[in-house]
Amino acid sequence: MTDPQHLLQQFIEEDRAGGTADPLAYLQRVEGADRSELEALLDGYLARAPRRAFDAEARYGITYRSVPDNKACECGAILRGLKRPQDCKLFGTVCTPENPMGSCMVSSEGACAAHYTYGRYKDAVTT
Ligand code: SF4
Repeated sequence: MTDPQHLLQQFIEEDRAGGTADPLAYLQRVEGADRSELEALLDGYLARAPRRAFDAEARYGITYRSVPDNKACECGAILRGLKRPQDCKLFGTVCTPENPMGSCMVSSEGACAAHYTYGRYKDAVTT
C-alpha cells in the first residue's frame, strides 16, 4: 500500500522500534503528489520526534543520577526575585562559573553567572 498516511505510520513504527528508519527509502516508494504529501508528513514527524542520535544518555549509556542541591544555594529565591545573587553567602567565593554550586551559576545565562560575569565581580575576585 502506498498511501502516504499508511507509510507514515510504518515509518513511525520502525523509527520507534529502533530509530533506524530511513526517510529517503520511504519517499522512494511513492511518486508525484503522494511523495510531496509523504515528505511533508515525514518532515513534521521528524521535527517533533525525539532523536536517539542526539540523546547523549542513550548514546553513551549514561544513567540518570540525582545530585542534591547545595543547602546554602539561594537559586530558588533568586529566580523568584526575592533575593539578589550577592545575597547568597556562596556567591563569588565558593560558587563561581568555574566552580558552580547551583544551577543559576552553571549556565552563562543563569542569574548568578550573568551577575558574576557582567556585574564586575569576576574582575574584582581575580585581581
Ligand atoms: S548558584 Fe551559587 S551563587 Fe547562585 S544562589 Fe546558588 S550557590 Fe548561591
